[in-house]
Amino acid sequence: MKESYEYYKPESLNQVFELLYQYGEGARLVSGGTDVFVQQRQTSERPEAMISLRHIAELAGIRVDGDRLVIGAATTLRDIEHSELLASEGEILVDATRRMASVQIRNVATIGGNIVTAAPSADTAGPLLALGATAELKSSAGARQVPLREYFTGPGRTVMAPGEVLCRFLIPRPKGPAGGCYLKMSRRQAMDLALVSVGVQLELDESGDSIVKARIGLGVAGPTPMRSLAAEAKLDGRPATQATLKDAARVSCDDTACRDSVRGQAWYREEMIEVLTLRAGRVALDRAKAKV
Ligand SMILES: Cc1cc2nc3c(=O)[nH]c(=O)nc-3n(C[C@H](O)[C@H](O)[C@H](O)COP(=O)(O)OP(=O)(O)OC[C@H]3O[C@@H](n4cnc5c(N)ncnc54)[C@H](O)[C@@H]3O)c2cc1C
Repeated sequence: MKESYEYYKPESLNQVFELLYQYGEGARLVSGGTDVFVQQRQTSERPEAMISLRHIAELAGIRVDGDRLVIGAATTLRDIEHSELLASEGEILVDATRRMASVQIRNVATIGGNIVTAAPSADTAGPLLALGATAELKSSAGARQVPLREYFTGPGRTVMAPGEVLCRFLIPRPKGPAGGCYLKMSRRQAMDLALVSVGVQLELDESGDSIVKARIGLGVAGPTPMRSLAAEAKLDGRPATQATLKDAARVSCDDTACRDSVRGQAWYREEMIEVLTLRAGRVALDRAKAKV
């Protein structure tokens, strides 16, 4: 087994593409390394070259670009947790990052790394799905945008092709008052992966009386992070009330494919999805109404 590899710190995407071309299948991208280096310890495979994405300015940061929010893929979880912009327009992501790993891990781990790893429990996936995010992928051949709903294809699998880099997430900004909430259930409060998780994002009309658009992102409810379309259908265009939230929570498991695992059984996951959908919905509604 080859123990050593080249480690590159390119400062532009073009340099990354050149290195990816040069090393082909022997190349491995790394952002924070909190998944890559753990996986590396578990296998005997070693890349020929590690290509760090940490020094590419265009991949980092959170900003407003007209009618959308833009989050660079190499933005750390800690930067998301402390973002004033997200505290007002993307609380759901702040909720999620606060419950991830430890401060030490969050200081280096990135949102892009979390999404590329594509674990069913990925804590930023539910919030990004609930925010209606699109992933922008770039390669030497050009750029393409993939709605996050179409991005995950299985546990640890995505639509990304060899040579592609996940560059940023594009999130439509709501026109009316909006609020979100992410709740994660795990066996321990700290340093544990989700047994199940729910993120609810609600956009209200100007009066705050009805729900214009709802999106619900679920974690560990199937082989990939997913939306609860059945529950969303019970919210869109309906009165912004507790009764509406209860109706939605009742059907929140209709599209899911929960399974038994070491962390919990399928029936328990389904019951908790209903409970968390109602609880997250209540907080999301309160947060949205506070902006009316
Ligand atoms: C102790 C511990 C606790 C954890 N707790 C949690 C938790 O509570 N919740 C949770 O969801 N996760 C958790 N994780 C997993 C991990 O920290 C996250 O998934 C993290 O966000 C990964 O980001 P990273 O930058 O470290 O990814 P890396 O390890 O650098 O990369 C992960 C994968 O993505 C690829 N990659 C990275 N960036 C890009 C890019 N821009 N374009 C293309 N490919 C890219 C890499 O090649 C690799 O395949 C934990 C990990 C540890 C070690």
